Amino acid sequence: MSERLDRLTADVRERGLDALLVTDVVNVRYLSGFTGTNGACLVGEGVRGFLTDFRYVEQAAAEVPHMERATAGRDLLRDVADHVTAAGVRRLGFDDGHLTVRAHRRLRELLPDEVELVAAGAMVEDLRAVKDDREVRAIAAAAALATDVLELLRETGFRGRSEREVARNLEHEMRVRGAEPAFPTIVAGGPRGARPHADPGDAPLEAGSLVVVDLGCRIDGYCSDCTRTLAAGEPGVEAREVYDLVREAQAEALAAVHPGARNRAVDAVARDRIAAAGHGERFGHGLGHGVGMEVHEAPRLAQSADEEESLRAGNVVTVEPGVYVPGTFGVRIEDLVVVRDGGADVLTGFSKELVELDP
Ligand code: ZN
Ligand code: ZN
Repeated sequence: MSERLDRLTADVRERGLDALLVTDVVNVRYLSGFTGTNGACLVGEGVRGFLTDFRYVEQAAAEVPHMERATAGRDLLRDVADHVTAAGVRRLGFDDGHLTVRAHRRLRELLPDEVELVAAGAMVEDLRAVKDDREVRAIAAAAALATDVLELLRETGFRGRSEREVARNLEHEMRVRGAEPAFPTIVAGGPRGARPHADPGDAPLEAGSLVVVDLGCRIDGYCSDCTRTLAAGEPGVEAREVYDLVREAQAEALAAVHPGARNRAVDAVARDRIAAAGHGERFGHGLGHGVGMEVHEAPRLAQSADEEESLRAGNVVTVEPGVYVPGTFGVRIEDLVVVRDGGADVLTGFSKELVELDP
C-alpha cells in the first residue's frame, strides 16, 4: 500500500498539485486497504491523510495503519476541508470522474478562497491498471475458480434447463467454492445470444442452439471475467463457421498482446479479421477491457481508446471478440490475460474448441 502511495505522490507532484483528494470507494480501498463504504484519502508530498466517520474508527485502525487517520462526521467533506487547510495545500486535485457536482460545490464553499480545486480525473485508475504480483495472483485465483465452475457444465450438460437455471447453478457453485459472482452471470441461448448483454430467460435451452456463457468470480476483492460459447447439441454449419471465425480472430488478437502494443491496434487485429469474413457490422463492442478490483476498468482495447495509448506489462485485460447474428445466434470467446514482457499469460483455462453438451 505504501508503494502505491509513493507512486501516486510522484504523479501528484508531476501534475503540479499539492495533494489529490480521493473519494471513490474502490480507489480509497486500493490506496488505503479500507473496506468500509465511507472514507476519503488525501495524498501528496508529506500528506497521507485518511478520513472516515465514527462508525469505522476501529476498522480503520486495523486496516489503515500506514496513513494518518482522522475521524470525521458522516459528511466527510467538512473535515476534508479542515484537513486540506491544515496541511497547507494550495492546489488540490479532485477526481472529476467521481466527485459529484454537488460535492464539488460544497467543497468549494468550505475551502478558503486561496485553495484552488483542479480537475484531475483517473489518476488512481491509471495506477490500478498496472497490477502487482499479489493482485495478479488474486485475479488468477478468481479466473481459475471460474474455469472450474464452467467445467462442471460438461458433466451436467444443459438437459432442458432454462438460461436462468443454468446461471443460478453456476453462481451457486461459485459460492460453494468461497467466491462471489463478480457480475450477474450471462447464459444466452440461440437468438438471445445475439444480444451481448442479455439477461437469462426462463425458456428451456433448445437443442441445436449456441449458448453464450459469460461469468466471473470475485476473490479477495479481485474479479475475473470469462466467456465461452457452447453448443446444446449439434449447432449446424453456419454456427460452426462463425464460431471458427471468432476463435481465429481471438487467437490472432491474443498473439498481438504485448507491452507497447497500441490498444487500438490490438482491437483492430480481431476487427479486421471479422470484417474480412463479412461480419464487420456484427462485432459491435470493443475487443476488451481491464479487469481488477472492478470488472470493467482501465485500459480499454477498442477503437475509441486514445490513439497513443499502449499496453504496459502488468495490465490485465480481456480479449473478447464476438459476432452477433440478429435473430439467430451469437458467438463470443473471452479470455483474461496478463500482459508480460514476453506477450500475454492467459488466465482462462477452459477449452476454446466448440464444446457440445447434451441439450
Ligand atoms: Zn465477460
Ligand atoms: Zn468482459
